[in-house]
Amino acid sequence: MNFNRASEKLQILADAAKYDVSCASSGGNRKNTNKGLGDSKANGICHSFTEDGRCVSLLKILLTNHCIYDCAFCVSRKSNDIQRAAFTVEEVVELTINFYRRNYIEGLFLSSGIFKNADYTMERLLRIVKKLRLEERFNGYIHLKTIPGASEELIQEAGLYADRMSINLEMPTEAGLKTVAPEKSHEDVKKPLHFVNQHIQAYNSDRKLILSTPKFVPAGQSTQMVVGATPESDLEIMATADQFYKAYNLKRVYYSGYVPIRQDSLLPSIGTPPPMIRENRLYQTDWLMRFYGFRVNEILDDTHPNLDPEIDPKLSWALRNLHLFPIDINTADYQLILRVPGIGVGSAKKIVAARQFGKLRTYQLQNLGIAYNRAKYFVRCADSPFASKDWQASQIRHFILSSSQNKRQSPQQLTLF
Ligand code: SF4
Repeated sequence: MNFNRASEKLQILADAAKYDVSCASSGGNRKNTNKGLGDSKANGICHSFTEDGRCVSLLKILLTNHCIYDCAFCVSRKSNDIQRAAFTVEEVVELTINFYRRNYIEGLFLSSGIFKNADYTMERLLRIVKKLRLEERFNGYIHLKTIPGASEELIQEAGLYADRMSINLEMPTEAGLKTVAPEKSHEDVKKPLHFVNQHIQAYNSDRKLILSTPKFVPAGQSTQMVVGATPESDLEIMATADQFYKAYNLKRVYYSGYVPIRQDSLLPSIGTPPPMIRENRLYQTDWLMRFYGFRVNEILDDTHPNLDPEIDPKLSWALRNLHLFPIDINTADYQLILRVPGIGVGSAKKIVAARQFGKLRTYQLQNLGIAYNRAKYFVRCADSPFASKDWQASQIRHFILSSSQNKRQSPQQLTLF
């Protein structure tokens, strides 16, 4: 390999890949067998992200930043006057193996612009993962981007070698996508997501009967939406996420705040800060849906189509539903305890376990590690005064906001990771 040229390509193609945040590596389980090289675990793989979205534990690159399409929001679009490069199949394999041996990375995140057509590109991606697994016996983690429009045969074969596959939805609604990428459609994404999901289910059921059935995309599928480039509300974004989680059994939906890269009347102007707080609130909402049993329309609806940037979505929901509170921490259902601001899944479980041994008092609740200063407006303990104060939602909001601002002195931009 020509080292100088490869390092130049690496600079171009790793930089172009940084806008894709959907590369968390958790979820993969691939055991080292037959003296292969390395393995990957469902947890323990470091997937730290830099602030600009780069995942530092995976070799995160594009095969090429050439593209036949001209999506307005994308740095690789064909009309953008940038330096172009493309790796060969051998170069990607060699870089991955060399970085892995040096312990720089735990795996590969491989995406691509579209060279000639979807199949031509997908076929190269397939050759890379096949070579890594079969010739180099690489057992590290591989996250592969599926190229929309590629033939099912190529996608199916790639699924036998990748741990995770993903396809970006790009804009949260079809209308938004059509505005900035008229040549693309959500249908191009739905078809392969459906195909891969069906195969994941089929391979999983076969494995229950025939142990030697190979693994197919064992870490599941994910997608990414760009947020803030087109004018969708948070309700529209989360409704789309909910629909995709349900229809295609996705492991994750990633929300990527749009970073303005060009002056275009269709897009926010250069200099507009990326919507980091909004992105953070969307992740919190996503978390509430996946782990706390919230439905989208409980958090967002036509009267509240956007998340409150000042307070997290769980607190916002609780303040709009004060008639449900305060709950008696000694008798309330686990699901209701989960809905108290300041109480997470771990502390809710501890509360339910601890109250079997006697009625919980305020100090015990504090000892269980909940954020009591936030939760105290929504719960009653064994020693709570009989008549609780009749605070209005606006007062509670004010108390909580001022106590958190006192801690930080001044409001700050939240960091995403
Ligand atoms: S098809 Fe993908 S890589 Fe090509 S311009 Fe559109 S978003 Fe960018």
